[in-house]
Amino acid sequence: MKKSWVIIALVLSLCFPIYPQTKQKISLLLYNGKVFTADENYSIAEAVAVDGEKIVAVGKSKDLRAKYSAAKEIDLQGKLVTPGFNDAHVHFLRGAIALLTVDLTGTKTLEEAKAKVAAKAKTLKAGEWITGRGWDHTLWGGKFPSKKDLDAVAPNNPTILIRVDGHVAWVNSKVLELAKVTKETKNPNGGEIERDSNGEATGILKETAQGLVALTVPQATPAQQLQGMELALKMAREYGITSVQDISGYDSTKLYRQFLQQDKLTVRVTEMQTFDDSIEKLKQQRTEFATFKDNPSRIKLGALKGYVDGTLGSKTAAMLAPFTDDEHNSGIPRYTPEQLTKMIVERDAAGFQIALHSIGDKANRMALDGFAMTESETKIRFINLTRLTNVPPDEYEKAIEVAKSKRKRHRIEHAQVVNPSDFKRFAELGIIASMQPSHAISDKRWAESRLGEYRVLGSYAWHLMRSYGVHVPFGTDFPVESINPYRTLYAAVTRQDEEGTPVGGWQPQEKVSMAEAIRCHTYESAYAEFSEKEKGVIAVGMLADLVVHSKDLLTIAPKEILTTTPVYTIFNGKIIYQK
Ligand SMILES: [Zn+2]
Repeated sequence: MKKSWVIIALVLSLCFPIYPQTKQKISLLLYNGKVFTADENYSIAEAVAVDGEKIVAVGKSKDLRAKYSAAKEIDLQGKLVTPGFNDAHVHFLRGAIALLTVDLTGTKTLEEAKAKVAAKAKTLKAGEWITGRGWDHTLWGGKFPSKKDLDAVAPNNPTILIRVDGHVAWVNSKVLELAKVTKETKNPNGGEIERDSNGEATGILKETAQGLVALTVPQATPAQQLQGMELALKMAREYGITSVQDISGYDSTKLYRQFLQQDKLTVRVTEMQTFDDSIEKLKQQRTEFATFKDNPSRIKLGALKGYVDGTLGSKTAAMLAPFTDDEHNSGIPRYTPEQLTKMIVERDAAGFQIALHSIGDKANRMALDGFAMTESETKIRFINLTRLTNVPPDEYEKAIEVAKSKRKRHRIEHAQVVNPSDFKRFAELGIIASMQPSHAISDKRWAESRLGEYRVLGSYAWHLMRSYGVHVPFGTDFPVESINPYRTLYAAVTRQDEEGTPVGGWQPQEKVSMAEAIRCHTYESAYAEFSEKEKGVIAVGMLADLVVHSKDLLTIAPKEILTTTPVYTIFNGKIIYQK
């Protein structure tokens, strides 16, 4: 019996020889590279096999080349591959439109800014609007500009210029006139009309006071939106950005869908809804969105984005104690703690993830206090109490597990200045700290004078946050900062500006390794939008969003990070950019 089986096996192997084995056909094979998978062990491989939209194998070049025959094969010649970048906090559409307006980013003096406005005014008829953004008065000596500066160069054109952080509008007299902002106009809640000694508006509108003129400003036309979006998508391809978590609001999903239908949407978009909208409206949007049946890996709805306070640069961040360089000012919270908690608890109960912009230590604490009052957290605290009584340990563990699984991964955006006692609360409450390293290198010029020598220790503290086990996705806040992910990585690992100052880095204890920084800008960002099972790591079954870099980020000198670029950007299995 045994012998006959051997004979059968021999005959079969002659009829159907194992060699030469036919190779499996796939669409793309990258080999002979250094593949940084961004998994939790920071594993490195040599090759990635892609078929269609997904990664089908990761491993050694020899093995994958033996197994697969790809329509396109790329010899990486040792180059570094990482997952595509995922910008966890970006005003993508707003930034796209801003690309078409007066750009004051980096202007070194008020005179330079005025000259740009004057040049624009020359191209327009009287009455036509001038819009723009990007100015930063801390580069001009620290005093806010005024309407008079603009009246001098654009007397006949309503002019509105938004500060680099998006939290202050600088307008001329024409705009105040059109919006009927007078001496009698009261400050709205959570905002301030800056006034001169006579009580007249100076043309500086902080935080929600921007809303007083917002309706008079003409919206970008559909043609401008399209044009801006094309530019922004091109920029994303050139920077290896394959996912964006956009803060433009529900209405912009229409434009993204339009691009998707034309097969021109080269990033995955998670669009945030507006925290301040009523729950009815939010639910209705959610229901309507579901009817579009978009592929959720291409466009989906994310968290509700709200603003608890302003910014450090504008001194509108809500602080527990006054700014060190402004003893009567501790910022502008947009809600009372009670209002905020109520809104958080209601929205959480309605099943929404929440993402709250919180810059000051008071704003961060208000957000944490609110998140602590959601049902699942209250429950977890009670289960923790019962542990002290006589519940068997395994039951206790199980109950905690179940309660934690109900968490909605609420986020604090920026988490810029955090009180020492609040770091561990992020971890305890499972709150994500969504941070933007490039803010630190832009703000370090004045952060210490605003905060003082001790409070500054808890600012832009992504390493400290991570050491508590907090999830820290990275983003850019474009157009507040450049969308360039290499600048984010550079800031995260050096804490120096582009000129390399200060030597050794600003608050250098907060540096992270390049491997960590890449994982924060890929995997952690995916986690923050509930997508870590489909992207953010190079592994079998994941979506094939990859970047091949011109230099080995993991070994080059820090300065070299800023001149690194993608050689290939691969999105959804396709090469969408090639240098
Ligand atoms: Zn932002």
